[in-house]
Amino acid sequence: MVDINAGDGPENVDVLVIGAGLSGLYILYCLRQRGLSARAFEAASGVGGTWYWNRYPGARVDVESVQYAYHFSDELLAEWTWSERFATQPELLRYVDYVADRFELRRDVTFDTRVVSAHFDDDANQWTLKTDRGHVATARYCIMATGSLSTPYRPPFPGLEDFEGEWYHTAMWPHDAVDFTGKRVGIVGTGSTGIQAIPVVAEQARHLTVFQRTPNYTSPARNRPLEAGEQAAFLARHEEWRADVRNTFAAMTGFPLPTKFADEDTAEQRRAWLEQRWEEGGMPHSLLTAYKGVPVDEGANRVVADFVRDKIHEIVADPEVAERLCPPVDLPIGAKRPPIDTDYYATFNRDNVRLVDVKAAPIQRMTSTGLQTADAHYELDAIIFATGFDAMTGTLLNIDIRGPGGCALAEAWADGPATYLGLMVAGLANLFMINGPGSPSVKANMIVALEQHTDWIMGLLDHMNADGLDRVEAKGDAQAEWVEHAREVAEATLMPRADSWYVGANIPGKKRVYMPYYGGFDRYSDLCEAIAADGYRGFTLSRHGDGAPRDAASREAPGAEATGRN
Ligand code: NAP
Repeated sequence: MVDINAGDGPENVDVLVIGAGLSGLYILYCLRQRGLSARAFEAASGVGGTWYWNRYPGARVDVESVQYAYHFSDELLAEWTWSERFATQPELLRYVDYVADRFELRRDVTFDTRVVSAHFDDDANQWTLKTDRGHVATARYCIMATGSLSTPYRPPFPGLEDFEGEWYHTAMWPHDAVDFTGKRVGIVGTGSTGIQAIPVVAEQARHLTVFQRTPNYTSPARNRPLEAGEQAAFLARHEEWRADVRNTFAAMTGFPLPTKFADEDTAEQRRAWLEQRWEEGGMPHSLLTAYKGVPVDEGANRVVADFVRDKIHEIVADPEVAERLCPPVDLPIGAKRPPIDTDYYATFNRDNVRLVDVKAAPIQRMTSTGLQTADAHYELDAIIFATGFDAMTGTLLNIDIRGPGGCALAEAWADGPATYLGLMVAGLANLFMINGPGSPSVKANMIVALEQHTDWIMGLLDHMNADGLDRVEAKGDAQAEWVEHAREVAEATLMPRADSWYVGANIPGKKRVYMPYYGGFDRYSDLCEAIAADGYRGFTLSRHGDGAPRDAASREAPGAEATGRN
């Protein structure tokens, strides 16, 4: 580990980076390419972010491995071989470790260190970061590469301290193997994480009780080993893929886009077409793009949702259990993040698996021997909390961030997160965020999205450097327009209707705001490029101290009309 304060006074670099996950590493790479000095602080003992922390059984990516990879280096692409269609967490972590070593990025990272505050000094035109280990570091720019799902959430169930068994949160999983053999295990949560973990834990545990509050729609991943030559074939047309992916809604290719509305098919044709999609399996968008309008139209959405409900009844032997697994009809498919799975519904046919509805009888407390709901007590040796994250804003708000004039992020976001393009917050000069609220990020292939964000920020830094500028700030009116545009886009769809982490509904007291940008990665990227070409419209660029901000004349609304297409 580097002791950055071994010398005299605070370390000063050009750019401070918070986080050494996939975003942080790519930022460090880009900064070094430009000859800019950087220091990253990382709370974990290693690189990898999401893939460092989420070591729970069954954890794997659900964007195809060849696409869920860095695309900035042809050498790296050629050197790494993926083994499965959807890589496991250990393979992904090996990949991130390889990248960090390959480009010698670790030397710019201070590990085991959490940033506690980031304050901007107006006169010095620089950020000062302080950490929980007493480091102080300063820089002209600060980039928050803190991840979208990096602050785990565990409901404050009373009595956990009395529980005599083991308990785990999936996002803080131990590094040593956990063995559930012979144990009675309970798992709380049936989001993407629970749905991945449940089939794997069920195979090992003596007994597994699944505590489900909201049933989820999921479809088969159809994971498999990559065949010989498959990755090579992908790489052979990589340039073409790069152009294609740039024009996709979710920054990924590989499923046909809808060509017709559901009511253009007969019932038999619909069934056959959806069966085909189900059999092919793969990325979550596959079912959502089976017909036009699924994300926006109740009727179209119901066709696909009903198909999944039918599938649940077809797979699950006990009709009562099947019914309990069926999401309610007022929950649109896709409004909660759609998972993909391996044998999730079939797991409920196992003799050692029990499904408990904790919406009907909520969890009340943990006891010394298990878990108490409103109507029963469950004896358990181990409890797994797959209860998610304080997503998109939690990690940022845990840092005391104050811009020029003391503008605090916590105050700026008192009514929910507001950003310009998910990249900057008005009032916080020279501070960028990667995949922040208001960006497509979590609705897209995160690596393609983070490369787009980082490249755009690097373009801005190059531009400022060339013009002798050293201060950039999002304008309040541009931010307000972006927030309104993002809200309109989301409201035109069924997506905000679910009580999901996308709207902050999973965290008590969190303001209900649909946080991701649902206008599509393609449209978003076009807008970012147009804004840059227009002299960084909506941003104030200036040279510190000369009192002459240079900004683009145009202040038009950044977005196009909302359509909620998918
Ligand atoms: P999540 O989607 O927020 O799910 C949390 C689960 O915990 C929900 O089922 C929720 O029920 C339940 N829960 C929360 N509080 C509860 C309580 N008091 N009592 C009973 N149940 C409670 O979290 P997640 O599954 O960790 O997934 C978060 C996100 O991480 C995903 O949406 C996805 O973006 C990402 N992820 C990706 C992958 C992948 O790429 N392969 C894998 C895992 C996760 P309710 O639904 O009723 O709130």
